[in-house]
Amino acid sequence: MRYNRILLKLSGEQLAGDYEAGIDPKLVSWLADEVKKVSNAGCQVVIMIGGGNFVRGAQIAGHGIKRVTGDHMGMLGTMINALALTDIFEAHGVPTRCLSNIFAEQVAEPFVHRLAGKHLEKGRVVVVAGGSGRPYVTTDTAALILALELDCQVVLKATKVDGVYDKDPVQFKDAKKLKNISYKNAIGGKEIGVMDKAALGLAMEQQMPIIVFNAMQAGNILNLVQGKNIGTKIS
Ligand code: UDP
Repeated sequence: MRYNRILLKLSGEQLAGDYEAGIDPKLVSWLADEVKKVSNAGCQVVIMIGGGNFVRGAQIAGHGIKRVTGDHMGMLGTMINALALTDIFEAHGVPTRCLSNIFAEQVAEPFVHRLAGKHLEKGRVVVVAGGSGRPYVTTDTAALILALELDCQVVLKATKVDGVYDKDPVQFKDAKKLKNISYKNAIGGKEIGVMDKAALGLAMEQQMPIIVFNAMQAGNILNLVQGKNIGTKIS
């Protein structure tokens, strides 16, 4: 196996599946089985879940809602996703714990990195709710911080497309998929919104590799963990 501990970044939008918002339990069940394969292979899995299927702070701010409040709303959205993910994963026989970066003790265990480490060592999937707990960043940046904090070897960033292209593959038929791309090009290039710049900057500074890939294709997460060349590697 290529990796023993990974951080999987899922966006909220992905959980919505065919719905416009909210959570598609069928899709999350399917994801549970995908993650189970990885877990059963002995790889420890940390999941940072987005909240864009409910609220994005930068979009909802205005008309009386402050940006900070909007971001708080967004983080609470991630919490809803994390709770759903945790239960559905457990219902599918994937031992999972939800740890929160927002104080919500009736709802989830607080995120403490030693506690997260213990869960991981016991083979439990750790789902982190509440992003980083701070406003003005997204769950992409929170994912990078978390991966560094928990000594993950790679960040697997799940997207709708199967990697990073030299131009928008939806608009341009001749768009080419890139196998590898440098942090600098990912930050500076006009490639379709790879990841936010704060996240990429942190990854570059700490030399944390990121693989952008399509998680909705069966076996992809396991293939990546086993070292197969899928998606686009940013390093
Ligand atoms: N958010 C935040 N701090 C964090 C993570 C998230 O303030 O550390 C807020 C922010 O408003 C963000 C929203 O939560 O837009 C939902 O997260 P994100 O947009 O990253 O979700 P995704 O696009 O991955 O579904």
